[in-house]
Amino acid sequence: MVSQGTDRSRPRLTVLAGPTAVGKGTVAAYIRHHASNVVLSVSATTRKPRPGEIDGVHYFFVDDAEFDRLIRDNELLEWATVHNSYRYGTPRKPVEKALADGKNVLLEIDLQGARTVRSHMPEARLIFLAPPSWDELVRRLRGRGTESPEEQARRLRTAKVELAAEGEFDAVVVNDDVARAADRVVHLMTGSTIEEQHLHG
Ligand code: 5GP
Repeated sequence: MVSQGTDRSRPRLTVLAGPTAVGKGTVAAYIRHHASNVVLSVSATTRKPRPGEIDGVHYFFVDDAEFDRLIRDNELLEWATVHNSYRYGTPRKPVEKALADGKNVLLEIDLQGARTVRSHMPEARLIFLAPPSWDELVRRLRGRGTESPEEQARRLRTAKVELAAEGEFDAVVVNDDVARAADRVVHLMTGSTIEEQHLHG
């Protein structure tokens, strides 16, 4: 059972979602490094690590059999097949433990996962990370250069559908600048900015 405490105006479980390539991962990484009072959930995934990604830090990289086991043993809070290819899921126990310890928890997950969390935990806050414009989103997706042209086209089709979901969210943060966007997310979660947290220890 996940408790959200008594302060209903500020839920401690926050979901950050948004269209593909909007920079969710970058904003989440910024928060991981700069906001000590926010716990970032580490997802399990069946995709292979990209260069520089560390098992247990960026993801838990697992094979299909292990992902099947996680589902079977009810160890995932939510999971989804993203971009019709790999499976991604939020390990349940670390999230429940952090919430029980009174911490603010952030899930950086896809839209399907955000909807699952909403249906199971209506008290969670959903933040939509939006691109400054459609053209900027296309530019970011092409610029990343980690996906094949076919994969890029597929992700852009997904992004169009995902952009239309903005209205389902409690708050919208525009990712015009990573540090500023991260600051707005942290402010929504904790009531103070990253800079204020550093000033006040
Ligand atoms: P990437 O492969 O680029 O790291 O992530 C692909 C997508 O998977 C992103 O949209 C990311 O938000 C999503 N994702 C990462 N972890 C999870 C998770 O635990 N659950 C769900 N539903 N989506 C996730």
